[in-house]
Amino acid sequence: MAAPSTALTIAGSDSGGGAGIQADLKTFLGCGVHGMSAVTAVTVQNSIGVSGFYELPPHAVAEQIESVVTDIGVGAAKTGMLASAAIMAAVAEAVRRLAVAPLVVDPVAASQHGDPLLRPDAIDALRTRIIPLATLVTPNVGEVRLLTGVEVSGPEDALEAARRLHVLGADWVLVKGGHRSGPDAIDLLYDGNRTYEFTAPRQATEHTHGSGDTLAAAICAGLARGSDMPEAVRIGKAYVTQAITNSYPLGSGLGPVGHFWRIRDWPPANS
Ligand code: PLP
Repeated sequence: MAAPSTALTIAGSDSGGGAGIQADLKTFLGCGVHGMSAVTAVTVQNSIGVSGFYELPPHAVAEQIESVVTDIGVGAAKTGMLASAAIMAAVAEAVRRLAVAPLVVDPVAASQHGDPLLRPDAIDALRTRIIPLATLVTPNVGEVRLLTGVEVSGPEDALEAARRLHVLGADWVLVKGGHRSGPDAIDLLYDGNRTYEFTAPRQATEHTHGSGDTLAAAICAGLARGSDMPEAVRIGKAYVTQAITNSYPLGSGLGPVGHFWRIRDWPPANS
C-alpha cells in the first residue's frame, strides 16, 4: 500500500474517548489519512463532564510537533484544546519555525457541559498568537462571543464575526451555526472577500460530544488530501453530519458522535 496523506492534531486527550485527540484520530482514519498527535493536556472526563485537566510542559508539546514534522511530514494540522498561554506560545513558535501548514484552528474554550478547557489567561494568546497562524479558524457561537464580543443570532452577525476574526489574521473563517436554533445548521465560510454557506438539517439529538473536533479534523483531512478550502469544508460538514446521525448514548450524560458507520463491515460476515 502506498503511504496515505498525513495529518497532525495538536490537542487534548478526552479520557471518555468522544472528543479531543481521540475524536481527531478516529476522524482522520475515517477520512483516509494517517493521523498523528501532539498531546497538549490530559483531561479527566466522562459523559457527565470534565472534572479536571493536566497540562504537558510546553516544550514537550513542541517536541512532539518537531518529531513528526522532521521525519514523517505533516500534510495538514489542526489545533484543539491548547489549555494555556504558555502552551500556545510553544505551539505558535513550533508551527512558524517548522512551517506547519495548512493549519485548522478549532478555538476550543469549554466543553458542551460548560466546563473550561482553557485557562483564562489563554484567551488573549488564542487571539494574538494562534489565530494569526490559522489557515482556517472554526468557532462556534460561544467561541465567537469570547473572541470577538459578537452575539451571533443571524447571518449578518455571522458575517460581522467572520470579518473580525479575519482581521485577527486567519486566512479563512468558518462561523458554525450548530449551537444556534432553527431547522438547519448553517455555517458561514469567509475568506475576507467571498462568503460560502453550508447547510445541513439540525438533528434532534443531545449526543453531539466531539462534534466540533470531528468537523475540524475532517476539514484538516480534506486539506491534507489536497482539497481547496470550500471543498474541504463541504466534505468535513458531510462527515460530521453523518457522525451526528450515527451518534449514540454512553454513560449517563452526553454521548459522542459516531464513527462506526465508516467500518460497518468489520468483522466480515464469514470470518
Ligand atoms: N475534551 C477535549 C479534550 C476537547 O478537545 C473538547 C473539544 O474540543 C472537548 C472535551 C469538548 O467537546 P464537546 O464540546 O463536544 O463536548
